[in-house]
Amino acid sequence: MKYYLKKHWKFNFLTILFLLIQTGSQTVVYLLDMQQFQKIIELDFKGFMYYFMISAIVFIIMIAANLVANYFQGKAVRNMNNSLRQDIAAVLINKDHLSFHEQASGEYLSWFTNDVSQIEKKAWGPFYNIVVVLSSTIFSVIALFTLHWSLLVVSLIFSIIMMAAPKIFEKRINNLGEEFANVQAASTDNFKELLKGFDVLRFFSHEHRFFKGINSASDNMEKAGFKLSMWQTISGDSVNLFSLFSQIAINALIAFLSIKGIIIQSAISGGGNLCSTVINGVANLSTLRISFYAVKPYFEKITVHADKDFEDDKTGMLPLHEAITLENVDFQYENKPVIKNMSLNFEVGKKYALVGPSGGGKSTLLKLILGWLPDYKGSIRFDGKDAKEYTTKQLQKQMSYIEQDVFLFNTTIKDNITLGEDFTDAQLKKALHDSALEGDLPNFENGLDTVVGEDGNNLSGGQKQRVALARALIHNRSILLVDEGTSALDKVNADIVEKSLLANPDLTLILVSHHLSDERKGQFDAVYEIS
Ligand code: ADP
Ligand code: MG
Repeated sequence: MKYYLKKHWKFNFLTILFLLIQTGSQTVVYLLDMQQFQKIIELDFKGFMYYFMISAIVFIIMIAANLVANYFQGKAVRNMNNSLRQDIAAVLINKDHLSFHEQASGEYLSWFTNDVSQIEKKAWGPFYNIVVVLSSTIFSVIALFTLHWSLLVVSLIFSIIMMAAPKIFEKRINNLGEEFANVQAASTDNFKELLKGFDVLRFFSHEHRFFKGINSASDNMEKAGFKLSMWQTISGDSVNLFSLFSQIAINALIAFLSIKGIIIQSAISGGGNLCSTVINGVANLSTLRISFYAVKPYFEKITVHADKDFEDDKTGMLPLHEAITLENVDFQYENKPVIKNMSLNFEVGKKYALVGPSGGGKSTLLKLILGWLPDYKGSIRFDGKDAKEYTTKQLQKQMSYIEQDVFLFNTTIKDNITLGEDFTDAQLKKALHDSALEGDLPNFENGLDTVVGEDGNNLSGGQKQRVALARALIHNRSILLVDEGTSALDKVNADIVEKSLLANPDLTLILVSHHLSDERKGQFDAVYEIS
C-alpha cells in the first residue's frame, strides 16, 4: 500500500495539503461561530458582523480547499489504480504456464475489477479519511485546550472507550471481508462461464440452467456481501450509540462550566462540535485502521511491480544449429504420469510428425519442449545445452507454436497475424501464401481488415487455424511446433499448408497430427508414435 502512495506522491501530497487546509479552516469556523454567538449574547452588533464576515471568508476557503483536495485525490486514485492493474498484469506475466492455468480466467478478471475497487474502497478512501480525521482531531484538541482542559480530558476518555468498541467485531469483519472477496471472484468466474456457454445452453433448451446459474452466482455474492454489511452496521451502530451518549454528557459538562462562568457562555454552541470531532475522530481512526487489515490480502496477491520486472532477457539464445534432444524424460500432471522415459531427437531443419491416440501426451510433449512444464525428470537439450539453463522467454523466442484450440483476438485478420508488429508486404504475402489463407481473402468483405468477432466466431474453424498458421509463420522462428494445426482444414488446404511447411529447408518442424496418409508420412524425416 505504501508503495503506491509513494509512487504517486505528488498528487497524494497535494491532496493531503488541501485536506489540511480544509480541516484547519473547519476548526477555525467552529471557533469563530462561538465568537459570533458571544457577540450576540453581548448585544454587540458590530462585533457580530466582524466575526460573521471572517467566518464567511474562512468558510469559502474551506469549501475551495475541499474542491481542490477532491480533484487531486481523484487524480491520485486514478494513477494508483492504474498502477495496481499494471502490477496485477506483471504478476500474471511472471507466472509459468501451469500456475497461470491453475486459476480460472474469471478469477483473474475479478482481480482487475473487484479487487481494485475493493482496494479503492478499503485502502485509498480510508487513507484520505485518516488524514481528514487525524488533522481535524488534532486541530480540535488544540482548540478545546484553549477553552478548558477538562473538556479535553473528558473527550479523550470517551474516545478511548469508543476505540475499544469496534475491536469486539474486528476479527469477524476481517474474516467476512476475505470470504466476500473469494465469493466475488468465484461468482465472476461463474458469470463468465455461463456467458461463454450461452449458445450451448440455448441450443439444448437449457435456458433454465442459465437463469439458475446466474441466480445462484448472484445470490452467493449478495449473501456474502449482506453478511459483511450487517456486521459492519452492527459494529457502526454500537459506536454511534455510545457517541450519542458521550455527546449528552459533554453538553452537560459545557453547560455546567459556562453557567459557573468558567468558560464563555457561547461555548455551548461550538464546544460540543469540537468535543464530538475529537471523540468521533479517535474512534474513526481505529475503524479506519481495521479497514487496512481487511485490504491486506488484496495487496498480498501483488508480488511484483510492473516497472521492475518488465525488462527483456538480456542474454539471448542462439538459433538452433544442431538438435533438440530429449533423454529419458518423465512427466506427470500431479499424480498422473503422461510421458514415460521418452528419448527423442529432433535435428535442425528436419521435419517430424507425432502421431498416436488422443490423450497419449502429444500436446504435453510440445509443452515440455516449449519450456511450459518445468517439472520433468530426465533432460531436454538444445544443441547440447540443458533447456533449464534458458528462461521460458528465451526458449519461446526460438519457437512458434500453434495450439490445438486457436485463440483469435476480436480485431482484424491482419492484426491477429502481425499482433501489431510491423512486417513488410512481402513478408505478409508469403505468410498468407504458406498458410493457404490467400485463397480465402476474396471471400471476406474487407479482406485482411475484416474483424473476426469474439473468439474468431466470424471465421470457420479451418480459417481460424490458417490465421494462426500465418501468425506463426510471419514471426519467422526457426522451430515450428504445430499441435493438430491442420486438423480442421479440408484436404486441399491441408495439402497446401503441409507441403509449404515441408518444403521450407530452414524450418525445424514438429507436427502433431492424427490424419496423416501413408503417402504424407513418407515425406517426413521421422514419424514418432506417442502413446
Ligand atoms: P494428446 O495431445 O496426445 O491428446 P495431452 O498431452 O493433451 O494428449 O494429454 C495427455 C494426458 O494428460 C491426458 O490424459 C490429459 O487428460 C492429461 N492432461 C493434459 N493436460 C493436463 C493438465 N493441465 N492437468 C492434468 N492433466 C492433464
Ligand atoms: Mg493434444
